[in-house]
Amino acid sequence: MATQDDVFKKIVSHAKEYGFVFQSSEIYDGLSAVYDYGQNGVELKNNIKRYWWDAMTLLHENIVGIDSAIFMHPTIWKASGHVDAFNDPLIDNRDSKKRYRADVLIEDHLAKIDEKIDKEVAKARKRFGDSFDEAVFRSTNARVLEYTAKRDAIHERFANALNENNLEELRQIILDCEIVCPISGTRNWTDVRQFNLMFKTEMGSTADGAMTVYLRPETAQGIFVNYLNVQKTGRMRIPFGIAQIGKAFRNEIVARQFIFRMREFEQMEMQFFVRPGSELEWFNKWKEARLRWHKALGLGDEKYRYHDHDKLAHYANAATDIEFEMPFGFKEVEGIHSRTNFDLSQHEKFSGKKIQYFDPELGESYTPYVIETSIGVDRMFLTVLCSSYEEQKLDGGDTRVVLHLPAALAPVKCAVMPLVRKDGLPEKAREIVNELKFDFSTHYDEKDSIGKRYRRQDAIGTPFCITVDHQTLEDNTVTLRHRDSMEQKRVSVDDLHRLIHDEVSINSLLRKLS
Ligand code: ATP
Repeated sequence: MATQDDVFKKIVSHAKEYGFVFQSSEIYDGLSAVYDYGQNGVELKNNIKRYWWDAMTLLHENIVGIDSAIFMHPTIWKASGHVDAFNDPLIDNRDSKKRYRADVLIEDHLAKIDEKIDKEVAKARKRFGDSFDEAVFRSTNARVLEYTAKRDAIHERFANALNENNLEELRQIILDCEIVCPISGTRNWTDVRQFNLMFKTEMGSTADGAMTVYLRPETAQGIFVNYLNVQKTGRMRIPFGIAQIGKAFRNEIVARQFIFRMREFEQMEMQFFVRPGSELEWFNKWKEARLRWHKALGLGDEKYRYHDHDKLAHYANAATDIEFEMPFGFKEVEGIHSRTNFDLSQHEKFSGKKIQYFDPELGESYTPYVIETSIGVDRMFLTVLCSSYEEQKLDGGDTRVVLHLPAALAPVKCAVMPLVRKDGLPEKAREIVNELKFDFSTHYDEKDSIGKRYRRQDAIGTPFCITVDHQTLEDNTVTLRHRDSMEQKRVSVDDLHRLIHDEVSINSLLRKLS
């Protein structure tokens, strides 16, 4: 049986073979942890962004969007705390010369203990059948109790070390847990050091005094520094939100999981400004709303979970991640943070400008509190890709690779195919394309056998194939083939637009949310 690792490798090569994702600068042997999106990838990515943008700005009359510049005044990153504290703890293995994030090594170790516990539970469930009571088993089984105690003890030390920024203790935990380097298999570890993740560059020529500027490591600060502009010009009343989609850059220490961890990536962030004291209520609302957005895609409800943070960032008073089950385990796709009034207060302090809101209902001014929802476009892309990929065994021993992409996100919505390349069928097929292309991304394909053409479309996740045959010329009907069921129906050309629209419009996804 294929392991999850094999499956992931196949997904990565499928993404390349079918024009979704390419290694950046490939003909120069690539640039590590930087990727380019190909002809199908860019469409899928744009559709993900559209779904998020519309869910934020169309469905909420109190959320508006902006597009701020990547370069910003360097003092912004002083004020936000990124210059001093946007660090990851890194550790090297002296034998393999490989570098790791110390916190990730420990988290992976904890996840392995959790897996052992889950295995014991699964074994017992099999043994006891219907009479199995998981809660009782977890609280009484000696082996499970032993694993749980061990896990909790490490977890507590780990959380304390992170909160206290105690790098020696992080190293000690790695040694005490006997964590080995996956490459060399040894425990020959260096000290743990802090590493700042921001990229620096220079603006202006050196002659007139160049200024060090940073490539933004998050899009959020562009929203905070425009808070006053938007609030005033849009006459926004609290509570209200500002949404933004854009590139962010982080000099990640370890970047080995394809587009999961990149050095250049894209974020979709929304900052929601609320009255002080109401932030935890809004935090819970957004936590639920964001999970609903994910689940509406139908990728599998059981693949999501919340993960509350052990270490709250210096600015946060509540934080959770939405995790998705990737082939390499449950991983963060989105973060939801209650950021208090930290950012706006800091910008007030560093800029000297008053950043306050006069609340007409309360008759007083205050610095708004903020709930942030922050999701990586690329991680979302990976989520969709991984959960859609299937190698399907067909009756008769054949297999097909199919991407069960949510129809609204699919790069191509329909492909029109003349059965043969003569008798006026190509002309009729072109006529249909020319009608549909105004509303849907439509392919025309006449090469190879019809079976091969169907496979090509399945592999990029096209929800519908439309085949034009001799009967079409007589009665204006075509066969409409559905990607997932492979079912073919004879339908009138006049009905095509409606039938396709019903399934592929982002509209139908958005309706599930409101
Ligand atoms: P991680 O713990 O995985 O490094 P993070 O907690 O630092 O992530 P945030 O700063 O909360 O991430 O960023 C919000 C979102 O941006 C993440 O949930 C993720 O989807 C995305 N993201 C962050 N870093 C990267 C990266 N290097 N590559 C791709 N996406 C990223």
